[in-house]
Amino acid sequence: MAKRSYTKTPMREQAPEVRNQNFDEVALGYTLEEGQLEASRCLQCKNAPCITNCPVMIDIPGFIKAIEEGDMPLAYEILSRYTNLPAICGRVCPQEKQCEMVCRLGRSKKFEPVAIGKLERLVADWALEQPVEYKEVTGDKGRVAVIGSGPSGLTAAGDLVKLGYDVTVYEALHAPGGVLTYGIPEFRLPKSTVKKEIERIVAQGVKIETNVVVGKTITMDEILSEFDACYLSVGAGAPRFQGIKGTSLNGVYSSSEYLTRVNLMHGYQFPTYDTPVQKSKNVVVIGGGNVAMDAARSAKRLGADKVSIVYRRSLEELPAREEEYHHSVEEGIEYHWLSNPVEYMDDGAGRLKAVKCVQMELGEPDESGRRRPIVIPGSEFIIEADTAIEAIGQGANKVLLDTFPELALNKWGYIDADEETCATSIPGVFAGGDIVTGAATVILAMGAGKIAANEIDQYIQKTR
Ligand code: FAD
Ligand code: SF4
Repeated sequence: MAKRSYTKTPMREQAPEVRNQNFDEVALGYTLEEGQLEASRCLQCKNAPCITNCPVMIDIPGFIKAIEEGDMPLAYEILSRYTNLPAICGRVCPQEKQCEMVCRLGRSKKFEPVAIGKLERLVADWALEQPVEYKEVTGDKGRVAVIGSGPSGLTAAGDLVKLGYDVTVYEALHAPGGVLTYGIPEFRLPKSTVKKEIERIVAQGVKIETNVVVGKTITMDEILSEFDACYLSVGAGAPRFQGIKGTSLNGVYSSSEYLTRVNLMHGYQFPTYDTPVQKSKNVVVIGGGNVAMDAARSAKRLGADKVSIVYRRSLEELPAREEEYHHSVEEGIEYHWLSNPVEYMDDGAGRLKAVKCVQMELGEPDESGRRRPIVIPGSEFIIEADTAIEAIGQGANKVLLDTFPELALNKWGYIDADEETCATSIPGVFAGGDIVTGAATVILAMGAGKIAANEIDQYIQKTR
C-alpha cells in the first residue's frame, strides 16, 4: 500500500484573483481518483470518534471505505441512511469543530485529519447526477404539516415520508430551502445543488407548498385541525441591529437584507436581474461569523474596491468556518480585529460616509465562555465607507409566533421546546432548528429535524 499522506488531498479551487470577480463555486470538488486517494488515508477506526462527533451520527468509516473501493452507490446508500442533504453538509458543515476535530489520524501530531466533508460532497455530487427515482407514498400512517422549508423542516419531512406519513411543507417564500437558498451565497453553495437535493426529497413523496405564510395565508388553527401533528421550523432570520447612531442612514444594511437581495432576489446575476444592490466602493462588515464572511465576499464580488471586517474579538475567537476565513483573506478581505463600531457617520445628505469604531481588549470569559471584549477609552478611529453591513446575529422569525400566542416561548423569544424530544407546550406541536436554538448550524437544525420525525411518529401512533 502507498505511504499514507500527511496532508489532506487538496481540492481544486478557482484562483483567488479570479473568483473574487465572479459568483461561481470556489471549491471545484474531488475527482473519483482524488476521493479514493483521500479515502485511503482513513484508519477505519473501531468505535470511530468521528461518528459520535457528527450530530446525525453518519457511519463515516463505512461510506469512506465504499469510496476507497470505488463503490459509489453503496457510499451514497450509507450516507442516505443518516442525511437527506449530504451535498449541502459536505460543503457547509463546520467539520473542523465536529467529525474532523476528533479524527484519530488528525490527533497524531504529523497528520491532518481525513477530509470527511469533502468526501461526503464527492458522494453526494455523484448521486445528484444519477436519475431521480420517484417513490409512491401511501401516507396512511397520518398527516403531518411542516412549517418552514430550511434544513430542519426538509430533514423532518424527508424522514417522515420514509416512515409512511403524508407530509406537506409550507414555505413563506417563493422558493424552498430557507437559509440554504436566501442566505448562503452561490460561490459556497450553488443554488442548483440545493434545488437538486430538494428534488430528491420531493421524489420521496414530500409535498412543498411555497408562498404560504403560516399565521397569515393559513392559520395555526387550520393546521391543527387538518393534520395529526406539526413541526415548526421557521428559523431565525429576522434582522438585528446594534442600534448605534446613524443606523438609519442610506448605505447601512442588515446582513439579512443584503444577502437576501444578492441571493434570493438574484442581485448576483446583475444585469440579467435588476435587483437593486448598491454599487459600493468601501464596504465595512460588522461581525465574525459565516454570515459576515458571506456578506463581505459577496460585496467584493459585486465590485467593491475595499472590503473590511470589523470584529470585536480576535482571530482565535472567530466563529466562522476556518475555510471561509482563509478564503476571505485570499480574496483580499481585510480585518480590523478587536474593534467595534460606535457610530455611522452622515455625509450631510443622509448617506453613510464613514464608520467610527473603538478598539477593544479582552477581559474575563462571559457566559458564552469567550473572553468579554472591553472598550479601550480614547481609542476611536474612522474607516471610510459608503456601505456598512451588520452581521451580528439574527432574531426569531415572528410572523407565526405572533399569531399563535398559546405557544410558550423562552426568555430570548424563541420557541420553548424540549431538546431531547422537540415537544413544545402544545401536544402535537413540535419545534426545532434555529427557531428553538437561535442562529446555529445546518447540521444541528437537521439533527433536530431527525429527532422530531421520530417523536412525531411515536406521538401519532399513541394518539390515533
Ligand atoms: P431556516 O434555514 O432559517 O429556514 C426557515 C424557513 O422557514 C425559511 O425558509 C422561512 O422563509 C420559513 N418561514 C418562516 N416563517 C414562516 C411562516 N410563518 N410560514 C411559512 N414559512 C415560514 N450553518 C452552517 O452549518 N454552515 C455555514 O456555513 C452557515 N453559513 C450561514 C450563512 C448565512 C448567511 C446564514 C444566514 C446562516 C448560515 N448558517 C450556516 C446557519 C444555518 O444556515 C442555519 O442554522 C440553518 O439554516 C437553520 O435551519 P432552519 O431550518 O432552522 O431555518
Ligand atoms: Fe477514519 Fe478519522 Fe473516522 Fe478514524 S476518526 S474512522 S481515521 S475519519
